[in-house]
Amino acid sequence: MIHSVYSNKDVFLRELVSNASDALDKLRLEALRDDTLDADVSDLHIEIEADKEARTLTVRDNGIGMSYDEVGQLIGTIANSGTAKFLQELREAKDDAGAEGLIGQFGVGFYSGFMVADEMTLVTRRAGEAQGTRWSSRGEGTYTLETVDDAPQGTSVTLHLKPADSEDALHDYTSPWKIREIVKRYSDFITWPVKLVPAPGEDGEAPEPETLNSMKALWARSREEVSDDEYHELYKHISHDWRDPLETIRLQAEGTFEYQALLFLPAHAPHDLFTQNYRRGVQLYVKRVFIMDDCEALLPPYLRFVKGVVDAADLSLNVSREILQQDRHIQLMQRRLTKKVLSSVKELMTGSPEKYADFWREFGAVLKEGLVTDADNRDAILAVSSFATTASEDEPVTLKTYVERMKDGQDAVYYMTGESRQSIENSPHMEAFRDRGIEVLLLTDAVDEVWADAVGEFDGKPLRSVAKGDIDLGTDGDGKSEEEREQQSAAYEELLGWMKEQLGEEVKDVRLSSRLTVSPACVVSDTDGMTPALEQMYRAMGQ
Ligand code: ADP
Ligand code: MG
Repeated sequence: MIHSVYSNKDVFLRELVSNASDALDKLRLEALRDDTLDADVSDLHIEIEADKEARTLTVRDNGIGMSYDEVGQLIGTIANSGTAKFLQELREAKDDAGAEGLIGQFGVGFYSGFMVADEMTLVTRRAGEAQGTRWSSRGEGTYTLETVDDAPQGTSVTLHLKPADSEDALHDYTSPWKIREIVKRYSDFITWPVKLVPAPGEDGEAPEPETLNSMKALWARSREEVSDDEYHELYKHISHDWRDPLETIRLQAEGTFEYQALLFLPAHAPHDLFTQNYRRGVQLYVKRVFIMDDCEALLPPYLRFVKGVVDAADLSLNVSREILQQDRHIQLMQRRLTKKVLSSVKELMTGSPEKYADFWREFGAVLKEGLVTDADNRDAILAVSSFATTASEDEPVTLKTYVERMKDGQDAVYYMTGESRQSIENSPHMEAFRDRGIEVLLLTDAVDEVWADAVGEFDGKPLRSVAKGDIDLGTDGDGKSEEEREQQSAAYEELLGWMKEQLGEEVKDVRLSSRLTVSPACVVSDTDGMTPALEQMYRAMGQ
C-alpha cells in the first residue's frame, strides 16, 4: 500500500502549517484584546499552493504576520553560527532519519523547509502595519531582507523545491495527493481550514479550493475515535517537540464547570526546564477557541513539563492570566488535573515499569519539588518517587520497598545527599552502613536536600541523613557492648579533648565513633544542622 510508505522529510509541511496555525491563533487573540487593531479576521485560513512547472510550493496564512524587525529576529537568525552549522550538517546528512534527528536537536521548525528546498522566500505583513517584508535565503548562512509595499496581511512561505528525484515519486511535493496525504497525516486537528488551491483547469478556470483537514478537536472526541498517531501529532504541534510523547492523558469533567483536557508527558526533558525563562503550562481553549499558551494557572510549577490542551466551556474569551490565578473554578481544575497526572504516573509505574523508569529519569528531579511545595499531594508524589540506592546499581527503589526490606531493628530510612553516586559511596559516612549491610538512599538532585527535611518521615520511619549527628546502628557491627564502649571513650578522653582544643572554632565537638571501619575520622553535621551537600550548595551560592 503506497500510503504507508512515507518520507520523514514530509514533516517540513507540518512545521509550516503549524507556524501558520499559531499565527492565526495570535491574530484572533490580538483582535479580541485590541479592538483598534486594523486587521481582517473575517476569513482566517491556511492555503497551500503548488506550481508543478516552477517547482514551487507555497504555504500562506492571513494571520498576525511579522514586522521587519521580527523577521530579522525570528527568521533571520539563519546567520547565527548554530543555525549555519545545523544547515551545514543537514546538507551532509546521509538519510532522512539523520536529518530529522538533527532538526529535532536544533529545534528549528521553519528551517526544516531546507530539507526539500534549495531556496526559501517569505513575504509577510504584520496585521495593523502598512509595510511588508520579504526575506529570502538559499540556506547557506546568509539571507536578504527588504521591504515590500503590496504584501497582503499575514505570511506566505514559498519553497523552491530541489530538483525532482526521478526514481522517487514519493518526494513530489507538488502532487495534490501527496500534499493531501501529508496534511491529513500531520495536521488534521489544526483548528483552521487548511486549503489546497487547485491548479487552473484546461479552460483556465480554477475550481474551488479543497479543505484538507477535518479540524476536529481531538480532546473533544472519544478515545476510540482517535489513533495514537493523531494524539502524537497534536502533541508535536503544541509542544514544538519532534519526538513522540511518552504518555497521553485524557480527562473529561462534566457538571457545573465543564472542561476537557488532553495532557502529555513528554519523553524527554527540555534543556531549559530548570531555568527562569522556561515557559510552563498548557494551552487554554474556551469552547474550541485558542485563548493562551503556557497557561500556568492550570498546573502547579512542579508539573511544568506537562504539555497539552485544556478546553473549558464556561470562561470568557477575554479571560486574563490575573483573573485565572484567582478563579475558584480554575483552582479546582488545577487540583483535579494534578491528581490525574499523578495517578497516570502511578499507572505507568505499575503497568509499564520501563516507561516509568524513563519518565523518572527525565522528570523525577522536577516532580520532587512537589514534595516541598504541595503538602496535599505529598503522599501521592512520594508513592511515585524512586531513588538510587546502595542495594542496586541501576534499579531505583521506592520508599515503600525500602521500608519493606529494612533489616530487623532498623528504625529509620537512611539517605545521603551528594554530587554523584560515586562521591557518596566513597564518603566515610557510608562505611558503617556498608559494613552492616544497611541500605542507604543516594540522593543527588539539588532538591533532595530540601524535600528530605520537609517530608521528615515515611510510614512512621524517620528519614535520616547518614551525614548528620550521632547515628546509633546498634552494637552488632563492631561487637562491642555498652560497657566496653564506655571504657573505650574513657581511654580516649584525653586525645579527644586535645583534638578539640587543636581544632578550636572549626568544630563543635570531637567524638569517638563506631561508624567508621576504614577511615580514621569523618566530619558530621549536627542532627538538625546542614548536611555537607547543602553546606556546599550555600557556599557555592556565596553565602
Ligand atoms: P517555533 O515555531 O518552534 O517557534 P519555528 O522555527 O517554526 O520555531 O518559527 C520561528 C518563529 O518564526 C515562530 O516562533 C514565529 O514567531 C515566527 N513565524 C514562523 N512562521 C510564521 C508565520 N507563518 N507567521 C508569523 N510568524 C511566524
Ligand atoms: Mg514552528
